[in-house]
Parts: sequence; C-alpha cells; structure tokens
Amino acid sequence: MDFQLYDSLSRSARPLAAADDKELRFYCCGPTVYGPAHIGNFRTFILQDVLRRSLEALGHKVRHVRNLTDVDDKTIRQSREEKRSLAEFTAHWTKRFHEDCAALNLLPPHVEPAATAHIPQQIDLIGKLIDKGHAYRANDGSVYFRVSSFSDYGKLSRLKDREILTGRPGSADDAAGPVDADEYELDSAADFALWKSRKPDDGEVFWPSPWGEGRPGWHIECSAMSMAYLGETFDLHGGGVDLVFPHHENEIAQSEACTCQPFARHWFHSAHLMVEGRKMSKSLGNLHTLDDIRARGVSPAALRYALLSGHYRQPLNFTWETIHSAESALEKLRKFRRQLADSAGDTTAPENGGWGSFSPVAAALADDLNTSAALGAVFRGIREVDATSPETAAAAIASLDRALGALGLALAEEKPSAAIPADITRLAEERWAAKQAKNFAEADRLRDQLKAQGWTTLDRKDGYDLEPLA
Ligand code: AMP
Ligand code: ZN
Repeated sequence: MDFQLYDSLSRSARPLAAADDKELRFYCCGPTVYGPAHIGNFRTFILQDVLRRSLEALGHKVRHVRNLTDVDDKTIRQSREEKRSLAEFTAHWTKRFHEDCAALNLLPPHVEPAATAHIPQQIDLIGKLIDKGHAYRANDGSVYFRVSSFSDYGKLSRLKDREILTGRPGSADDAAGPVDADEYELDSAADFALWKSRKPDDGEVFWPSPWGEGRPGWHIECSAMSMAYLGETFDLHGGGVDLVFPHHENEIAQSEACTCQPFARHWFHSAHLMVEGRKMSKSLGNLHTLDDIRARGVSPAALRYALLSGHYRQPLNFTWETIHSAESALEKLRKFRRQLADSAGDTTAPENGGWGSFSPVAAALADDLNTSAALGAVFRGIREVDATSPETAAAAIASLDRALGALGLALAEEKPSAAIPADITRLAEERWAAKQAKNFAEADRLRDQLKAQGWTTLDRKDGYDLEPLA
C-alpha cells in the first residue's frame, strides 16, 4: 500500500518511500535531557513512533535514528546549579526519558546518538564549511554560519529576511529571536553559531578544536549525526513544528552547503499539544509529565491513545476529559478482545494473517497518518468482526492486534493490574501444562474452571497471560 505523507518542505502530500527501495532512513530530533520530558514532547515522539510502526506494518523497512541533546545552555546551566558533572546530570535524565518511553510503548530507535559522543564529526563538518567559505571564525574563537552564503536559506520556513532576524512571527516562545544576545561579533545578525568559544559559565564543559576550546552550537549536532548514521541524503526528517525555524532551516543550510546534495527528502512536522490555547512548554510552566498523569490514575496507554486522538497537523488541546474518554475507549477494546479470546478458546490464528475488518485502519494511517480516523476505524472494525467460530475469532484477534500494534496500543502485551490469587495461578499453570502435553480435554476443563472463578487466559506462542474477566 502506498503511503502518503504531507511534506512540509514542498507543502504537499507526497508518497513516502525509501530512495533505495530497501530501507526508509528516518531521523528525528530527540529530547534535550535536562529534566523530564513533558507530554507535549511525547505527542511528537509518539506520532513519530506511530509513523514508524505504520510503515513497518505495511511492509516497509525503517531505520530510525533519534538523537539526545546532552550539551547546550540549559543542560550546562542546570548541571552547574545542581553541582553535578554534565555527564552524570544528563545520564540521569536520559534514563528517566527511556523509562517514560518504555511505559508509553515507544520503540527504541535503532541508533540514539548523543551530541557529546560526536564532537569530532561536528568539528569535521564545521571545518568543511569554513573551507568552503560558508562559515567564519570570530575573534573570540566562535564559528558562525554565513547565512548570506546559502541562497536557499529560508526554503523550509519560507520566512522573509526581516522575519529571519526575529524568528517565527506570532510565536510567544520565539519572541526573543534566534540570535544569542552575546553573539555580537556576527557579520550579520541572521548568522548562527556552529562552534561556541569557551565561556566562564561553561565550567568544565569544553572540547579542544582548531578554533580553540569550546563546544558545538545546537544545530550542527543534528546535521553531523543524521549524516553519520543515514548518509548525506536521507528519506525523512521529523520534529515538532517549533523546530522548523531556526533549527531545521539551519540544519538544511549547513548540511546542503557542505555536501551540495539534498539533505532530507521529506519533512514530517507535527503540531503542538496545547493548554488553553498556548503551547505546552517548560518556559510557560503549563506542562504535565507522565508521572503527573499516572498520579491521577491514568494509564500510559490511555495517554498514548489521547495523544493520537487528533490529526498530527492540528494542534491538540490537552483536557482531562479527552484522557478519561481515552481510558474508557481502551477499556471497551480490552473487553472486546477478552470476549474474542473466549470464543477462540485454544485456537490460534495462522501467522501473517491480514488486517481483516481492520483494513480501513491501515488505509487511514497510510493517508497522511490520520490517527484519529484510524481509531474510528478500529471501532467500526470491531462491529464487523465475525466471531462465530473459534477460527474466525482467533483470526479477528490477530487482525485487531495488527491494527492496534500499528498504533502502539499493545493490549496483547498488557499485564493484568489486579493481583492474581495463588490458586488461580496454579490452575493456569496446570492448564498450560495440559495444553503443552496436547491433553486438550483437560486444558478445556481447567479453562472452564478458571472462567467460573472470573479469570481467562490469553495464549501466546511461548506462554500465556492471565486476565480477570470483565
Ligand atoms: P526538546 O526536548 O525541547 O528539544 O523537544 C523535543 C521534541 O518535542 C521536539 O521535536 C519539539 O518540537 C517537541 N515539542 C516541544 N513542545 C511540544 C508541544 N507542546 N507539543 C508537541 N511537541 C512538542
Ligand atoms: Zn535536531
């Protein structure tokens, strides 16, 4: 099935495909690890995850790279305030990010490069830009990209010259403009730092370079790491819309100026999670973390569901009502799946089955990643499911799991939250052993006994899950 995705560079929906027909190379700007990611950040990361999962479910092979920004003004400032080394500080927040990602069922990227582990690659890129006349060294040892040397500058954000100096018009977060107050040695105020010379506020955070001690600017890390792992030209680049300018505009400029090749072939930008009309952000102090959500008794799966309930190109308003209706929608799906499991009994579906009555879910995802339409199609699909025989019920479970799997709503892998009484576990163990010994009559008898006590088992290839009956 063809996959159409809106491309923010050409501003049109275009077929998304691997240039080499083998592997779709996908780079995402990752988190800045200086505190817990908020659920707005996770809207972006979950959408990227669903894009990858959908492509994979439709037969594409994806190579996913997402970086860690582990050195910048914020990480340095915060680690110094806490009197911890930068490495120790960012390791702490990276671990927390990974825990949250796992709870939200995000697939780990194939490569997760950290900026501090790729300083030589960044220095190399800056050196080439200087050699080609696209960058210059200021008196203090900082190096800047000369925006006027790259005629395509502005092609992604389509900002006019004046707007490039002040940042995106109308965005409160960018009101301060892209230029650091201390970058007074610029040839033009639009120029941006590739290398920042060492300052007292940087403490022990610096690296040697041909231009003196210092550290890379923010934008250069993504050019260096995407090209290191995906090549000079790759298929898809993702991030939240706030990254269009200046970050992605600058990534394009420094990469294409260096290689004279197109950088990313397709750009995927997702709109923000909003709170009362404003972007959820640390600077506005209107954020929720995954922990805040869990403290209110909401499961990470319900948060994922809620964050997928709107189209990615539209801002999504955060409300508790959306989260609670996501929880009840998921509960309906769990119940439906349990009923199917009951009808299927010990029958398992053949592997590599199709999407069955859930094929409209695949169609919605392949049509510009329409997750809200896909969720609607899941519910229409369950009304059409044929569960009249164990075989059709088993096939329906497999196709439902396929559809939910593309959305990362892995009901099949959920563990029951209720504590399981010891006699129930024993019965389930005996039933599993009977089934393994092909003593199906005994296995069925034990299954009925479990059912009478309010429990059911969902069999996998290598084991089973116990679930309370609804
Ligand atoms: P950061 O850790 O600030 O570099 O952001 C990580 C990712 O989250 C980037 O792709 C941002 O564009 C994205 N992001 C930041 N705030 C929001 C928000 N309120 N809604 C959706 N995505 C966001
Ligand atoms: Zn980036």
